[in-house]
Amino acid sequence: MKTKKLFKSKSYNLLSVGSNAKIKKEGTNEEYIIASLSLMPADKVEGVNLCAMAKIAGCEGPCLESAGRGSMPTVIDARTRKTELYRDNRAAFMSMVRGDIFAFIEDCKRYGVKPAIRLNVLSDINFMPIIREFPEVQFYDYTKVISRHKKDIPENYHLTFSYSNKPKYRKLFKPVWNTRFNIAVVFKGKELPETYKGRKVINGDISDHRFLDPAGVVVGLLAKGKAKKDNSGFTIDLQTI
Ligand code: SF4
Repeated sequence: MKTKKLFKSKSYNLLSVGSNAKIKKEGTNEEYIIASLSLMPADKVEGVNLCAMAKIAGCEGPCLESAGRGSMPTVIDARTRKTELYRDNRAAFMSMVRGDIFAFIEDCKRYGVKPAIRLNVLSDINFMPIIREFPEVQFYDYTKVISRHKKDIPENYHLTFSYSNKPKYRKLFKPVWNTRFNIAVVFKGKELPETYKGRKVINGDISDHRFLDPAGVVVGLLAKGKAKKDNSGFTIDLQTI
């Protein structure tokens, strides 16, 4: 009850905690609270690109930045201001992120819950140096930056690689299929397949807490919003393959 009160839509300087942020790890007594950071994706803010692979993957169009509250002018303004700070004063931005993480950890301690943070809700920035500074926090993200599968990923960072079926991206992505990293795939239609490219498909729409997923699966997502009409090759249409 106490947890609910504290974390109901709490905002820090850059991070925020939504009203459905509490999650219990199945089969354990561990309870997590999720904080997240939402910026403006790709090159939506002039002079900076937060998603290095967005053009090759073709995901700028179907990106979910305008989903839910993302179309509200106040939300767009807040995300834009944060992105401008990242663009104009990187050191101040990073130090504010650190400050927010410290404050969030303290709040979680006070309420006896574990902290989990998603820093790239609508971006694809390499936050690994900061992530290493907070081993007590479970971080998680989706990424389209393929080269990260070869990097030394911190133990407290759960990464799900996000697939696109666009020809150039598909080719570059091949080595990721041979890893144990989970791979998120957006499917057109009303139902997810049971398997895809030899991997079991789990339903990623049930929850967004990817760090609790089993390893080596495809995280299946059904196309929503603009992605339903996407013809760039980003989504998978099982009727046509
Ligand atoms: S990489 Fe992710 S956040 Fe960036 S444009 Fe693509 S879908 Fe959106």
